[in-house]
Amino acid sequence: MEKVDILINARWVVPVEPDVRARDNWSVAISHGRIVDVQPTSKALERFDPDKILERPHHTLLPGLINAHTHAAMTLMRGLADDLPLMDWLQDHIWPAERRWVGPEMVADGTELAVAEMLRGGTTCFNDMYFFPEVAARTAARLGIRASIGMIVLDAPSAWAETAAEYLAKGLALRDEYKGHPLISTAFAPHAPYTVGDESLAKIRRLSDELEVPVHTHLHETDDEIRQSVEQSGDRPLARFARLGLLTPLLQAVHMTHIEDEELAGIVHSGMSVVHAPESNLKLASGACPVAQLLDSGVNVALGTDGAASNNDLDMLGEMRTAALLAKHQSGSPAAVSAGDVLRMATLNGAIAMGLREETGSLVAGKWADMICIDLARIPTQPVYDAVSQIVYAASRDQVTDTWVAGRHLLADGVLTGLDESDVIRRASDWQARIASY
Ligand SMILES: [Zn+2]
Repeated sequence: MEKVDILINARWVVPVEPDVRARDNWSVAISHGRIVDVQPTSKALERFDPDKILERPHHTLLPGLINAHTHAAMTLMRGLADDLPLMDWLQDHIWPAERRWVGPEMVADGTELAVAEMLRGGTTCFNDMYFFPEVAARTAARLGIRASIGMIVLDAPSAWAETAAEYLAKGLALRDEYKGHPLISTAFAPHAPYTVGDESLAKIRRLSDELEVPVHTHLHETDDEIRQSVEQSGDRPLARFARLGLLTPLLQAVHMTHIEDEELAGIVHSGMSVVHAPESNLKLASGACPVAQLLDSGVNVALGTDGAASNNDLDMLGEMRTAALLAKHQSGSPAAVSAGDVLRMATLNGAIAMGLREETGSLVAGKWADMICIDLARIPTQPVYDAVSQIVYAASRDQVTDTWVAGRHLLADGVLTGLDESDVIRRASDWQARIASY
């Protein structure tokens, strides 16, 4: 018999690859943090000699959820200013609070709060963009969650850097520090078309091509953004990105709420990924990304929550449900964007967008054991006809019982193993008192 570290026997397993169907009574074998195999429990018990067997008799085991767009430290601004027009919200509330408070301590505490929330909610990997990314990287690595850390670039100064050149230099130093790290990868993160000029974007494009590093940016978030771009440069932001050579398979364009028919062919042809953030778009009344149309055209669409100041949670189960419902409403078809489609968006498509397809995003032999269990033997998810449908349309994140990243059991039967939750809550509360007094 073949020795493995652990065998997890679950009522259902949804491997996502080769498809998003639930398998009855399947198991996942793990050794050295990686998946050895995924197969029916009856066969796994004959083949493997595990050091440990874990029974999850009324749970679904699936790949960990991938939050493909976050500003993790903004959890500390959750609920600071709600129900306001976008520019009032930003200019009168969020930006002043950031100018006053963003620093290493705030980013450490806010990122830790975000990681605790994400691990509890079944997220094993996030794609972050914020100031002091070296602090977010250190926090994620210490807590054991997988993350792609954005090397943020703006033309405007911040507490972290003065000039675009300084942002880039600091970002590249961070990239060097984490090269080959099992959990932390990096992406260029030019904030948005309206905060980064052509010169900086051209430099990022050259570096991205040379180093084969993804580019994570906000694009076509609102009508206003597009109108101002046309006034200033004559081009819509997508056309400007195309002119600068940025539309490549390495691009992760977040939001894309406004796409014209003639733009679609360029998006498809480029191989770029789109990251859909439906709850943030709905809350800020930004519009809605035409997800059904993009998926039908073969575009890779991932899913993200955006920061907690505009959502206000990092709940990928909730985000999946919103994405499915919104797509049906928007396209006028209840058949658009199925439960399986959104689960793929929240797992494998995120990994593809982030350049992590070989590492995570599905339960396949050789990938890291980034996975979660959801207990369906609870009142809101009974009875079970279809485990995938139940997870997307009925389950809530408090039904996530277990979270593993690279085989480490970070949420074990409902308990966070690497975090002092009461301390995280106390620090969040201290920050509320400080930030509310600005
Ligand atoms: Zn964002």
